[in-house]
Amino acid sequence: MNASTLMWFRQDLRLRDNPALHYACENGAIIPIYIFDTDCPEQFIPGDASKWWLHQSLSALNLSLDNQLHFAKGEAIRIIMALVQAHNIKTVVWNRGYEPWQIKRDTQLKQLLSAAGVEVKSFNSHLLWEPWQVLKKDETPYKVFTPYYRRGCLSKPSPRMPVAIPKDIQIEYNPQCDNGLDSLALMPRINWFHTMDKMWTPGEEGAAKHLSDFLPDGAKAYKNKRDFPDLGATSKLSPHLHFGEISPNQIWYAAIHALDGNTEDAGLDCYLSELGWREFSHYLLFHFPHIPQKNFSPKFEHFPWRSDPDSLIAWQQGQTGIPIVDAGMRELWQTGTMHNRVRMVVGSFLVKNLLIDWRQGERWFWDCLLDADLAANSASWQWIAGTGADASPYFRIFNPVTQGQRFDPQGEYVKRFCPELSKMPDKYIHNPWDAPQNILDYAGIKLGSNYPAPLVDLKASRQRALDALAQSKQQPDEEPS
Ligand code: FAD
Repeated sequence: MNASTLMWFRQDLRLRDNPALHYACENGAIIPIYIFDTDCPEQFIPGDASKWWLHQSLSALNLSLDNQLHFAKGEAIRIIMALVQAHNIKTVVWNRGYEPWQIKRDTQLKQLLSAAGVEVKSFNSHLLWEPWQVLKKDETPYKVFTPYYRRGCLSKPSPRMPVAIPKDIQIEYNPQCDNGLDSLALMPRINWFHTMDKMWTPGEEGAAKHLSDFLPDGAKAYKNKRDFPDLGATSKLSPHLHFGEISPNQIWYAAIHALDGNTEDAGLDCYLSELGWREFSHYLLFHFPHIPQKNFSPKFEHFPWRSDPDSLIAWQQGQTGIPIVDAGMRELWQTGTMHNRVRMVVGSFLVKNLLIDWRQGERWFWDCLLDADLAANSASWQWIAGTGADASPYFRIFNPVTQGQRFDPQGEYVKRFCPELSKMPDKYIHNPWDAPQNILDYAGIKLGSNYPAPLVDLKASRQRALDALAQSKQQPDEEPS
């Protein structure tokens, strides 16, 4: 193998709108490689659901590269430096990652390659705006979403237009440098993914199909319908975006184009601003790299979280006795995803009604979500816990019963994932403990037997959360490190 450019695929598992690939192909033949890197700190290694997705996605990318993608596992720096030396590689290219450990590792690799006389280039393929380019007038980062997005991002030049698929991808394939996809050992040993197999098509084609199914009608109706978990009214692009099978730029321009450039349209504006939330979470992680582990707000350093393993397990297994919480947690387990509104409801229930540290919820989501994303997951958990930047205040506690009544009025969503409640009338579907005995008998429900009695009293646990907040406020504040 004696090619000039090593194309290192990372979270950009696509051929279209891939700036690094585009640049590499203009230079001549490429050696495409994917490395399952072990430089990653243990707690950030992808969870089981993500690994399942990654395996499928890599398989799709390999197919679109005529099965000539090289696979390796280990320390990326060591692997790349060895390849460069052994095969006289003159240029190494990749698309940037924004997780703190990636930034540190990539900076080190760039220095080593430059010192070895190798051209090294990195590109932005993952974000609409570079985090360091959006700052307040005083040059400090925004901490509140609306000014960040409306004033900071939208006042900047428009995001770059997607680049075309390279006309000619010439690959130098060397079987000696390819350990094969299976060597990455991504597929879970137990076959729990059969439901996901039916629901999802990981890879660039699956992403393009989700987008074209969603536009234009989905974007038009987005604002009014997106909060109803049973309607399937969101774009379902998050795992595709996480693995870079589609870029935010492709989605941004496709959505604007599908609505004839009418950015005043309320549905389109709302949809684009959700992409803005995605940007904001990456922005926060970039400027405040401690957010996956540490409360953004130092006020919560002394918060009296409870240790309650039994309640945590009941929450994880969808056995809390609160129907919308149970439906959400079962949806997560069975499908690898959960509707955004329900993520907020189950999150609030864990950190407020059960008073369990948001990091326990974040870890469970990390393992079970197909779209598990360090930036979005930690920022969203901190948002719902009230510990984050621009967070929902801690004292605003979601009531799962009224949330259910408002966003799942006929209980269709609950019944899908909690079929034991299928005969419960609408009036009691979200609060079966309030139902008179004759209704419970009609619905065939014995609370505590074939459906759990509620794990906590909602009113009392709400008050307990408010008392905990008051107690923590009496502690001295600490500055974040
Ligand atoms: P759509 O509604 O169609 O939105 C389009 C895209 O915008 C999404 O694909 C996603 O990339 C982005 N987006 C939408 N809402 C948010 C948000 N609040 N924050 C950041 N980006 C957003 N999203 C993840 O991608 N990975 C996670 O690990 C993750 N963990 C979460 C944990 C909690 C507790 C909560 C409340 C939310 C979390 N989210 C996470 C955000 C959101 O729930 C998902 O992005 C969304 O449900 C994905 O569905 P969709 O693709 O149909 O979204």
